Amino acid sequence: MFDNLSDKLNSAFKKLKGRGTLTEKNIEEGLKQVRMALLEADVNYRVAKKVISDIKERALGQEVMDSLTPGQQVIKIVFDEFTRMMGDSHKGLNLEGRKPAAVMLVGLQGSGKTTTAGKLGLYLRKKGKKPFLVPVDVYRPAAIDQLKKIGKQLDLPVFPSTTDMEPLAICEQAVAMGREKGYDTLILDTAGRLHVDEALMAELQGIRKGVHPSEILLVADAMTGQDAVNIAGSFDETVGLDGIVLTKMDGDARGGAALSIKAVTGKPLKFIGMGEKSTDLEPFHPERMASRILG
Ligand code: GDP
Repeated sequence: MFDNLSDKLNSAFKKLKGRGTLTEKNIEEGLKQVRMALLEADVNYRVAKKVISDIKERALGQEVMDSLTPGQQVIKIVFDEFTRMMGDSHKGLNLEGRKPAAVMLVGLQGSGKTTTAGKLGLYLRKKGKKPFLVPVDVYRPAAIDQLKKIGKQLDLPVFPSTTDMEPLAICEQAVAMGREKGYDTLILDTAGRLHVDEALMAELQGIRKGVHPSEILLVADAMTGQDAVNIAGSFDETVGLDGIVLTKMDGDARGGAALSIKAVTGKPLKFIGMGEKSTDLEPFHPERMASRILG
Protein backbone atom coordinates (compact mmCIF):
# COMPACT_ATOMS: atom_id res chain seq x y z
CA MET A 1 0.00 0.00 0.00
CA PHE A 2 1.05 3.54 -0.67
CA ASP A 3 0.44 4.60 2.93
CA ASN A 4 3.52 2.82 4.20
CA LEU A 5 5.95 3.70 1.47
CA SER A 6 8.34 4.75 4.23
CA ASP A 7 8.27 1.25 5.74
CA LYS A 8 8.80 -0.27 2.35
CA LEU A 9 11.77 1.93 1.65
CA ASN A 10 13.24 1.28 5.06
CA SER A 11 13.09 -2.46 4.61
CA ALA A 12 14.38 -2.28 1.05
CA PHE A 13 17.44 -0.46 2.31
CA LYS A 14 17.94 -2.41 5.52
CA LYS A 15 20.65 -4.49 3.93
CA LEU A 16 22.72 -1.39 3.43
CA LYS A 17 24.04 -1.20 6.94
CA GLY A 18 27.16 0.73 7.74
CA ARG A 19 28.53 3.71 5.94
CA GLY A 20 29.32 4.26 2.33
CA THR A 21 27.87 6.01 -0.67
CA LEU A 22 24.57 5.32 -2.36
CA THR A 23 25.35 3.52 -5.58
CA GLU A 24 23.16 2.66 -8.53
CA LYS A 25 23.14 -0.97 -7.43
CA ASN A 26 22.13 -0.37 -3.85
CA ILE A 27 19.38 2.14 -4.57
CA GLU A 28 17.87 0.06 -7.37
CA GLU A 29 15.72 -2.07 -5.03
CA GLY A 30 14.43 0.97 -3.20
CA LEU A 31 13.58 2.71 -6.45
CA LYS A 32 11.65 -0.35 -7.54
CA GLN A 33 9.54 0.09 -4.42
CA VAL A 34 9.05 3.77 -5.13
CA ARG A 35 8.04 3.04 -8.72
CA MET A 36 5.51 0.41 -7.67
CA ALA A 37 4.09 2.60 -4.96
CA LEU A 38 3.72 5.53 -7.36
CA LEU A 39 1.85 3.45 -9.91
CA GLU A 40 -0.33 1.90 -7.20
CA ALA A 41 -1.13 5.39 -6.02
CA ASP A 42 -2.37 6.22 -9.50
CA VAL A 43 0.42 8.63 -10.32
CA ASN A 44 0.62 9.50 -13.99
CA TYR A 45 3.03 7.10 -15.73
CA ARG A 46 5.22 9.79 -17.25
CA VAL A 47 5.35 11.66 -13.99
CA ALA A 48 6.35 8.48 -12.13
CA LYS A 49 9.16 7.88 -14.61
CA LYS A 50 10.46 11.42 -14.22
CA VAL A 51 10.29 11.19 -10.40
CA ILE A 52 12.29 7.98 -10.40
CA SER A 53 15.01 9.40 -12.62
CA ASP A 54 15.19 12.62 -10.58
CA ILE A 55 15.44 10.68 -7.33
CA LYS A 56 18.13 8.46 -8.78
CA GLU A 57 20.13 11.44 -9.94
CA ARG A 58 19.95 13.04 -6.53
CA ALA A 59 20.69 9.89 -4.58
CA LEU A 60 23.63 8.60 -6.59
CA GLY A 61 26.99 9.22 -5.05
CA GLN A 62 25.54 10.71 -1.88
CA GLU A 63 27.40 9.82 1.27
CA VAL A 64 25.18 7.99 3.70
CA MET A 65 24.97 10.37 6.62
CA ASP A 66 25.99 9.14 10.06
CA SER A 67 22.69 10.14 11.55
CA LEU A 68 20.51 8.37 8.98
CA THR A 69 20.08 4.85 7.71
CA PRO A 70 20.29 4.53 3.90
CA GLY A 71 16.52 3.93 3.92
CA GLN A 72 15.90 7.15 5.82
CA GLN A 73 18.21 8.99 3.51
CA VAL A 74 16.34 7.84 0.41
CA ILE A 75 13.04 8.64 2.13
CA LYS A 76 14.33 12.17 2.61
CA ILE A 77 15.24 12.42 -1.08
CA VAL A 78 11.81 11.08 -2.07
CA PHE A 79 10.14 13.52 0.33
CA ASP A 80 12.07 16.46 -1.14
CA GLU A 81 11.24 15.35 -4.68
CA PHE A 82 7.51 14.99 -3.91
CA THR A 83 7.50 18.42 -2.27
CA ARG A 84 9.28 20.01 -5.21
CA MET A 85 6.89 18.39 -7.69
CA MET A 86 3.81 19.65 -5.93
CA GLY A 87 5.08 23.19 -6.13
CA ASP A 88 5.22 26.19 -3.87
CA SER A 89 3.64 26.48 -0.49
CA HIS A 90 0.23 28.04 -0.20
CA LYS A 91 0.17 31.48 -1.75
CA GLY A 92 -3.49 32.11 -1.08
CA LEU A 93 -5.92 33.63 -3.50
CA ASN A 94 -5.16 36.64 -5.63
CA LEU A 95 -8.09 38.93 -4.89
CA GLU A 96 -6.44 42.26 -5.58
CA GLY A 97 -7.73 44.74 -8.10
CA ARG A 98 -11.29 45.36 -9.07
CA LYS A 99 -13.98 45.08 -6.42
CA PRO A 100 -15.85 42.94 -6.10
CA ALA A 101 -13.33 40.27 -7.03
CA ALA A 102 -14.70 36.97 -8.29
CA VAL A 103 -13.57 33.44 -7.55
CA MET A 104 -15.00 31.19 -10.23
CA LEU A 105 -15.34 27.52 -9.31
CA VAL A 106 -15.50 25.09 -12.20
CA GLY A 107 -15.54 21.31 -12.37
CA LEU A 108 -17.58 18.23 -13.08
CA GLN A 109 -20.83 17.44 -11.32
CA GLY A 110 -20.27 15.76 -7.97
CA SER A 111 -16.69 16.98 -7.63
CA GLY A 112 -17.63 19.10 -4.63
CA LYS A 113 -18.06 22.59 -6.13
CA THR A 114 -21.10 23.69 -4.13
CA THR A 115 -19.68 22.34 -0.87
CA THR A 116 -16.38 24.09 -1.67
CA ALA A 117 -18.21 27.37 -2.41
CA GLY A 118 -19.54 27.33 1.17
CA LYS A 119 -16.16 26.33 2.59
CA LEU A 120 -14.40 29.13 0.71
CA GLY A 121 -17.03 31.60 1.85
CA LEU A 122 -16.35 30.69 5.45
CA TYR A 123 -12.58 30.73 4.90
CA LEU A 124 -12.69 34.18 3.29
CA ARG A 125 -14.95 35.61 5.97
CA LYS A 126 -12.44 34.45 8.59
CA LYS A 127 -9.83 36.39 6.59
CA GLY A 128 -11.91 39.53 6.94
CA LYS A 129 -13.56 39.43 3.50
CA LYS A 130 -17.22 39.90 2.71
CA PRO A 131 -18.06 36.94 0.46
CA PHE A 132 -21.16 36.66 -1.70
CA LEU A 133 -22.23 33.18 -2.84
CA VAL A 134 -23.56 33.05 -6.39
CA PRO A 135 -25.38 29.95 -7.69
CA VAL A 136 -24.74 29.78 -11.45
CA ASP A 137 -25.91 26.22 -12.16
CA VAL A 138 -29.32 27.02 -13.59
CA TYR A 139 -29.79 23.52 -15.01
CA ARG A 140 -30.28 21.85 -11.66
CA PRO A 141 -32.71 23.57 -9.29
CA ALA A 142 -31.29 21.38 -6.52
CA ALA A 143 -27.88 22.99 -7.00
CA ILE A 144 -29.30 26.49 -6.46
CA ASP A 145 -31.23 25.31 -3.39
CA GLN A 146 -28.16 23.57 -2.02
CA LEU A 147 -26.08 26.77 -2.11
CA LYS A 148 -28.94 28.82 -0.65
CA LYS A 149 -29.15 26.33 2.20
CA ILE A 150 -25.39 26.48 2.81
CA GLY A 151 -25.58 30.30 2.80
CA LYS A 152 -28.32 30.19 5.40
CA GLN A 153 -26.40 27.78 7.61
CA LEU A 154 -23.24 29.87 7.46
CA ASP A 155 -25.04 33.19 7.50
CA LEU A 156 -23.49 34.19 4.18
CA PRO A 157 -25.42 36.18 1.57
CA VAL A 158 -26.50 34.29 -1.56
CA PHE A 159 -27.50 35.87 -4.88
CA PRO A 160 -31.18 35.05 -5.60
CA SER A 161 -30.58 33.05 -8.80
CA THR A 162 -33.49 31.31 -10.50
CA THR A 163 -33.49 28.60 -13.15
CA ASP A 164 -34.92 30.90 -15.82
CA MET A 165 -31.91 33.24 -15.71
CA GLU A 166 -28.91 33.12 -18.05
CA PRO A 167 -25.68 32.11 -16.27
CA LEU A 168 -23.77 35.16 -17.54
CA ALA A 169 -26.63 37.49 -16.57
CA ILE A 170 -26.56 36.03 -13.05
CA CYS A 171 -22.84 36.74 -12.76
CA GLU A 172 -23.15 40.29 -14.09
CA GLN A 173 -26.08 41.11 -11.83
CA ALA A 174 -24.25 39.57 -8.87
CA VAL A 175 -21.25 41.84 -9.57
CA ALA A 176 -23.55 44.88 -9.56
CA MET A 177 -25.34 43.74 -6.40
CA GLY A 178 -22.04 42.92 -4.69
CA ARG A 179 -20.72 46.41 -5.45
CA GLU A 180 -23.91 48.00 -4.20
CA LYS A 181 -24.01 46.01 -0.95
CA GLY A 182 -20.30 46.11 -0.22
CA TYR A 183 -19.60 42.40 -0.74
CA ASP A 184 -15.99 42.27 -1.88
CA THR A 185 -15.62 38.66 -3.09
CA LEU A 186 -18.03 36.77 -5.29
CA ILE A 187 -17.88 33.00 -5.27
CA LEU A 188 -19.34 31.73 -8.53
CA ASP A 189 -20.64 28.16 -8.29
CA THR A 190 -20.84 27.28 -11.98
CA ALA A 191 -22.64 24.36 -13.58
CA GLY A 192 -21.00 20.97 -13.84
CA ARG A 193 -21.69 18.08 -16.15
CA LEU A 194 -20.92 14.43 -15.84
CA HIS A 195 -18.26 14.80 -18.53
CA VAL A 196 -16.29 17.64 -20.03
CA ASP A 197 -18.51 18.95 -22.85
CA GLU A 198 -18.36 21.76 -25.38
CA ALA A 199 -21.53 23.57 -24.37
CA LEU A 200 -20.34 23.79 -20.78
CA MET A 201 -16.90 25.02 -21.83
CA ALA A 202 -18.48 27.70 -24.04
CA GLU A 203 -20.64 28.84 -21.13
CA LEU A 204 -17.64 29.02 -18.80
CA GLN A 205 -15.58 30.93 -21.38
CA GLY A 206 -18.46 33.42 -21.69
CA ILE A 207 -18.50 33.98 -17.93
CA ARG A 208 -14.76 34.36 -17.90
CA LYS A 209 -14.86 37.06 -20.59
CA GLY A 210 -17.86 38.76 -19.04
CA VAL A 211 -16.75 39.09 -15.41
CA HIS A 212 -12.95 38.61 -15.52
CA PRO A 213 -12.67 36.49 -12.37
CA SER A 214 -9.56 37.06 -10.25
CA GLU A 215 -9.26 33.34 -9.66
CA ILE A 216 -10.60 30.43 -11.70
CA LEU A 217 -10.31 27.30 -9.60
CA LEU A 218 -11.01 23.78 -10.72
CA VAL A 219 -12.69 21.66 -8.07
CA ALA A 220 -11.62 18.06 -8.65
CA ASP A 221 -12.33 14.84 -6.79
CA ALA A 222 -9.09 13.26 -5.54
CA MET A 223 -10.72 9.84 -5.47
CA THR A 224 -10.81 9.83 -9.27
CA GLY A 225 -7.00 9.76 -9.43
CA GLN A 226 -5.73 10.17 -12.98
CA ASP A 227 -9.14 11.30 -14.19
CA ALA A 228 -8.79 14.36 -11.99
CA VAL A 229 -5.48 15.12 -13.69
CA ASN A 230 -6.96 14.71 -17.18
CA ILE A 231 -9.97 16.85 -16.28
CA ALA A 232 -7.62 19.55 -14.99
CA GLY A 233 -5.80 19.45 -18.33
CA SER A 234 -9.06 19.86 -20.31
CA PHE A 235 -10.36 22.72 -18.18
CA ASP A 236 -7.03 24.49 -18.28
CA GLU A 237 -6.83 24.28 -22.07
CA THR A 238 -10.36 25.50 -22.69
CA VAL A 239 -11.25 27.82 -19.81
CA GLY A 240 -7.84 28.50 -18.26
CA LEU A 241 -7.18 27.80 -14.60
CA ASP A 242 -5.38 29.65 -11.83
CA GLY A 243 -5.37 26.73 -9.46
CA ILE A 244 -6.98 23.58 -8.22
CA VAL A 245 -8.96 22.52 -5.17
CA LEU A 246 -8.66 18.79 -4.60
CA THR A 247 -11.64 17.49 -2.65
CA LYS A 248 -12.28 14.26 -0.74
CA MET A 249 -8.72 13.94 0.47
CA ASP A 250 -10.21 12.65 3.73
CA GLY A 251 -11.16 9.46 1.90
CA ASP A 252 -8.66 6.83 0.89
CA ALA A 253 -7.42 8.76 -2.13
CA ARG A 254 -3.81 7.72 -2.48
CA GLY A 255 -2.32 11.00 -3.48
CA GLY A 256 -1.73 10.26 -7.15
CA ALA A 257 -3.79 13.22 -8.26
CA ALA A 258 -2.05 15.56 -5.82
CA LEU A 259 1.36 14.38 -7.01
CA SER A 260 0.64 14.61 -10.72
CA ILE A 261 -1.61 17.63 -11.18
CA LYS A 262 1.06 20.32 -10.94
CA ALA A 263 3.54 18.33 -13.02
CA VAL A 264 1.00 17.78 -15.79
CA THR A 265 -0.85 21.12 -15.86
CA GLY A 266 1.67 23.48 -14.31
CA LYS A 267 -1.15 24.85 -12.14
CA PRO A 268 -0.86 24.88 -8.35
CA LEU A 269 -3.02 23.07 -5.87
CA LYS A 270 -4.46 25.79 -3.66
CA PHE A 271 -6.73 23.99 -1.21
CA ILE A 272 -7.71 20.50 -0.23
CA GLY A 273 -11.14 19.35 0.90
CA MET A 274 -10.94 17.15 3.99
CA GLY A 275 -14.59 16.36 4.61
CA GLU A 276 -18.18 17.35 4.04
CA LYS A 277 -18.36 20.06 6.69
CA SER A 278 -17.88 23.73 5.88
CA THR A 279 -14.78 23.89 8.05
CA ASP A 280 -13.13 20.98 6.24
CA LEU A 281 -10.97 23.05 3.90
CA GLU A 282 -7.21 23.36 4.24
CA PRO A 283 -4.75 25.54 2.36
CA PHE A 284 -2.46 23.26 0.39
CA HIS A 285 1.03 22.66 1.76
CA PRO A 286 3.26 20.43 -0.35
CA GLU A 287 5.39 19.24 2.60
CA ARG A 288 2.32 18.11 4.51
CA MET A 289 1.01 16.24 1.51
CA ALA A 290 4.41 14.67 0.85
CA SER A 291 4.58 13.36 4.45
CA ARG A 292 1.08 12.09 4.19
CA ILE A 293 1.79 10.22 0.97
CA LEU A 294 4.98 8.74 2.41
CA GLY A 295 3.04 7.66 5.51
P1 GDP B 1 -20.96 19.57 -7.02
O1 GDP B 1 -21.92 18.77 -7.85
O2 GDP B 1 -19.63 19.69 -7.68
O3 GDP B 1 -21.48 20.88 -6.58
O4 GDP B 1 -20.66 18.68 -5.71
P2 GDP B 1 -21.23 18.82 -4.23
O5 GDP B 1 -20.66 20.00 -3.54
O6 GDP B 1 -22.71 18.69 -4.25
O7 GDP B 1 -20.56 17.54 -3.56
C1 GDP B 1 -20.84 16.22 -3.97
C2 GDP B 1 -20.70 15.30 -2.76
O8 GDP B 1 -19.36 15.27 -2.32
C3 GDP B 1 -21.53 15.76 -1.56
O9 GDP B 1 -22.09 14.62 -0.94
C4 GDP B 1 -20.50 16.42 -0.64
O10 GDP B 1 -20.85 16.36 0.71
C5 GDP B 1 -19.27 15.58 -0.93
N1 GDP B 1 -18.01 16.29 -0.68
C6 GDP B 1 -17.59 17.47 -1.17
N2 GDP B 1 -16.35 17.78 -0.74
C7 GDP B 1 -15.95 16.74 0.05
C8 GDP B 1 -14.74 16.44 0.79
O11 GDP B 1 -13.75 17.18 0.81
N3 GDP B 1 -14.75 15.25 1.47
C9 GDP B 1 -15.82 14.40 1.46
N4 GDP B 1 -15.72 13.28 2.15
N5 GDP B 1 -16.93 14.65 0.77
C10 GDP B 1 -17.02 15.80 0.07
